[in-house]
Amino acid sequence: MTGTTQDDYTDRYARRVRGMTTSEIRALFSVASRPEVVSLAGGSPYIQALPLDAVGEMLGRLASEHGASSLQYGIGQGTIELRERICEVMTLSGIHGASPDDVVVTVGGQQALDLLARLFLDPGDVVLAEGPSYVGALGVFQAAQAHVHHVPMDDDGLIPAALEEAIRATERSGRKAKFLYTIPTFQNPAGVTLSEERREQVLDICERAGLLVVEDDPYGMLSFEGDAPLPLRARRRDGVFYVSTFSKTFAPGLRVGWILAPHAVREKLVMMTEANVLCPSAFAQGAIVQYLSTMPWREQIKSYREIYRERRDALLSALDDLMPVGTTWTNPTGGLFVWATIPEGLDSKAMMPRAIAARVAYVPGTGFYADGTGTSNMRLNFSYASPERLREGVRRLAGVMEQELEMRAVFGASATTPHHRRGPAAADVPGPDLA
Ligand code: PMP
Repeated sequence: MTGTTQDDYTDRYARRVRGMTTSEIRALFSVASRPEVVSLAGGSPYIQALPLDAVGEMLGRLASEHGASSLQYGIGQGTIELRERICEVMTLSGIHGASPDDVVVTVGGQQALDLLARLFLDPGDVVLAEGPSYVGALGVFQAAQAHVHHVPMDDDGLIPAALEEAIRATERSGRKAKFLYTIPTFQNPAGVTLSEERREQVLDICERAGLLVVEDDPYGMLSFEGDAPLPLRARRRDGVFYVSTFSKTFAPGLRVGWILAPHAVREKLVMMTEANVLCPSAFAQGAIVQYLSTMPWREQIKSYREIYRERRDALLSALDDLMPVGTTWTNPTGGLFVWATIPEGLDSKAMMPRAIAARVAYVPGTGFYADGTGTSNMRLNFSYASPERLREGVRRLAGVMEQELEMRAVFGASATTPHHRRGPAAADVPGPDLA
C-alpha cells in the first residue's frame, strides 16, 4: 500500500487504540522545547546534577569487563543481582523483608503500570484513581478500555469518605472496580501527600471492599522535610502492588523500574513481561547494579533533594510575589510538581497558545483527568529549570494571566473562553513533556 493515508488504516485499528489521539497540547509542546521558552511543563529530573564523567566510565567498564552478560539476553523477571539491590533500596523507604523473588524488573514504572493493567483489567472495568492523576497511567487504563473514576483530594491527599462514595457509586452502576491506583507520596501532578492517618483509613476501606491497591511511588525518596510517611506496602503485604523506578533517583534514560508483587501473582507478571519485551535490558540493569555498588547513590539522592528543595522554594516565592489575586497552589514537601488553581473564568487549556507566545509552558490540568475537567488548573514543574528561570517563567505566566483577566473585564467572557468541546478527553499518550 504505497501513498496510503492514516484514514486507510483507521477501520483496521483494534478497538482499544481508537480513542488514542495526539492532543493539541502535544503539538504545542514541540514549540515549548525551544530554548527561549521557560518550560514548567516537563517532569524531567535535573540530570546535570549527576557526575556524568564517572557514570560514563562506569558504563564503559560495564561493556568491556562484563559485556558477556550485560550485552546478552537476560531473564524475564530481571537479574537476581538487581532484584536483591532493589530490596535494599526499598528498605530506605521503610519496606523491610521483601524477597527478591517477589520483585519483577520492568522497563520504567510505566511498563509496570501497563503490566498490572493487562493483568487485571477487562474492557469496561473501573479503576479508582486520585483526581487529578498521572497522565501516563490514564493512558494505560484507557488503552485497557477501562473506565477511570476520579476520587477527589485535599491538602492531605485522597479523601477517605470520597473513596467510600466512589466504591458505592461503582457498585450502583453495576460495574466492577478492580483496583485503586494511587500515588500517595508527593503526588504527580498535585504535589500533595496522603497523611499518616489517612493511609490506614484508605487501606482499611480497600480491604473491606475487596479492592486491590496499586501504589505508585516514584517520588517517595525525594522528600524535602524529613522522611516521607511509610508507603502503603510497608503497612500491608497483601493486596498491595508496589511500583517504583530509578527514573527520579538516578536517571530515566536507563528505563528501569520494578513491581513488588504479592508472591501469588509474581509468576503471571513474569510471563507477561516475556510476552511483552522478552526481558528488560540486561545492560540497563547492569548499569543500575554497578551504580548502586560503586557510586555514592545515597548522596546523589540527597543532592537531588537539595536542588529540588531550593527550586521549589524559588517557584513558591515567585508564585507568591507575582501571581494574580485568586490564584492558589499546593505546597509540596517533596517531588517535582506544584498544582495551581487559576482565577475563575480563566481556562488553562485555552490560554496555552498565548503562554507559549509569551515563552512559557505548563501542562493544563485537563491532561490529568480522564473526563475533560481540569480547565482551571495547571501543573508546574520545578525540577528542571534553575531558580532564576523559574522566576522568569512565573513572571511571564502571570503576565499572560493578567492580560486574560483584563480582556475578560473589558470584553466579557467570550473574549477568552473558547468554544471547545467539553466531555471525555481524548487520552493523551504520555511523552517526555507529560512525564
Ligand atoms: N508514575 C508516575 C506517578 C510518574 O510520574 C512517572 C513518570 N513521571 C511514572 C510512573 C513512570 O516513570 P518511568 O517509566 O520513567 O519509571
